[in-house]
Amino acid sequence: GTRTLPALLRSAAERFGDHPAYVEEGRTLSYAGLLERVEATAAAYVDAGVRAGDRVVLWGPNSTAWAIAALAVSYAGGVLVPVNSRYVGPEVADVVARTHAALVVLHDGFLGRDQRRELADAGTKPPVVDLHEVTDLDRLDHRPGDRDFPQPGPDDVADILFTSGTTGRSKGAMSAHRQTIGVADAWATLGGVTAEDRYLVVNPFFHSFGYKIGIVVGLLTGATLYPVPVFDVEATMRLIESERITLLPGAPTIYQSLLAAPGRADHDLSSLRLAVTGAAVVPVVLIERMRQELGIDHVVTAFGMTEAVVVTMCREDDSAETVATTCGRAIPGMETRIGDEGELLVRGDHVMLGYLDDPAATAAAIDADGWLHTGDVGTLDEAGNLTITDRLKDMYISGGFNVYPAEVEQVLARMDGVADVAVVGVPDDRLGEVGTAYVVASAGSTTEADVLAFARERLANFKVPRHVEVVDALPRNLSGKVLKTELRKRWT
Ligand code: ATP
Ligand code: MG
Repeated sequence: GTRTLPALLRSAAERFGDHPAYVEEGRTLSYAGLLERVEATAAAYVDAGVRAGDRVVLWGPNSTAWAIAALAVSYAGGVLVPVNSRYVGPEVADVVARTHAALVVLHDGFLGRDQRRELADAGTKPPVVDLHEVTDLDRLDHRPGDRDFPQPGPDDVADILFTSGTTGRSKGAMSAHRQTIGVADAWATLGGVTAEDRYLVVNPFFHSFGYKIGIVVGLLTGATLYPVPVFDVEATMRLIESERITLLPGAPTIYQSLLAAPGRADHDLSSLRLAVTGAAVVPVVLIERMRQELGIDHVVTAFGMTEAVVVTMCREDDSAETVATTCGRAIPGMETRIGDEGELLVRGDHVMLGYLDDPAATAAAIDADGWLHTGDVGTLDEAGNLTITDRLKDMYISGGFNVYPAEVEQVLARMDGVADVAVVGVPDDRLGEVGTAYVVASAGSTTEADVLAFARERLANFKVPRHVEVVDALPRNLSGKVLKTELRKRWT
């Protein structure tokens, strides 16, 4: 069947043939062409020493070549380990060492020769190859011929994806072929994705949303993918208009920048039919503005995490109220329940096999009954719709009362003169912990006193932050999440 990535790719090449799979800077690659390049690239990886079950580190921004390389790793029987394209040399070396990678594939311009040597010295001293050198057919001298590639099984590990590192050191989550395909299939079905869709992939390929819900969804549906290496709001609007883009999933910040773009009125964005957002708490007003001002037919919210990819998602016929206040209900194959301290627990087909080389962390995350403890606090309504209140780790206790920073942030975000805000708990001699609000002012004159006055009128005293710091910007990672550990460190 098509429960392994190589089998799925062959089936896509057969079903969708000449239909465009990737469009990048005006160059098109068909599904049949994709298979051809993947086979040749896989041959090059085998020639570089990759054997069944070997891990291959892939480091680069979104591109057609990235997709070819990722699929070639599976095709060669290897395990894909994508790394954050914003990482620098030593961070990649750490991933190479932790995964005992057999090969490193990197974007051509990423490292100088000395740095490459350092990388090759890390861990198992793997060979390093250029991404484009082996994915570009014109430059290929490896030919698949009638080679027999090792065939992975549905339960073999397909990929190790690292968590965003929002709460600490990134953890490598391992998934089997059937899981990576299964979750993409569930998402594509709920989103009604077809070969007619033109999908702008702003989500990074190295993250589960860009890879599984991007590249793998393409193989299942025949949709045409437009990889975006670096988000630029003007370029994005031009592309949506000229290519009649239909799908634009992304973090809330993507739509916020579209809404704020000065040139928006000059572009016709009406081809957009589906936006799926999540990854962070989504402001209610944003959902309304995405519908009304960006004209997106269906705006839905979802909840996901690297360890389970997509957990819940709104359905297209959900009410505006459900979309604005929840992240939908469990997708096929998944179950949700609320455990101790209000923690969201999830179970089912898409929950990872475990963390890389860390049985203790795996046992702490997945209990004996198979429930994954998400570390997020949430509620489920009668229909099973999930609302995330906060991260368990972000909650702090002020004078004996639980404070959920996300709630305080939602309130402060409504203040005129506040462009962005994050609240963290910090130590306090008298109350144990108190809130510190980091505020980005939209009008230059917003002061600490203004923010405090606004908060006092709208929040119980124990929820009112004790400190307000006006800053130029909040530290965020590529998934759009505020790095609260960094903010807490800043305070101490
Ligand atoms: P780390 O586990 O390394 O600290 P991370 O949890 O941020 O990093 P990801 O797996 O990329 O890494 O993100 C999953 C998290 O994102 C969830 O646990 C949750 O906190 C947050 N999240 C995802 N979707 C939503 C949503 N719709 N609403 C609120 N939070 C969300
Ligand atoms: Mg996490």
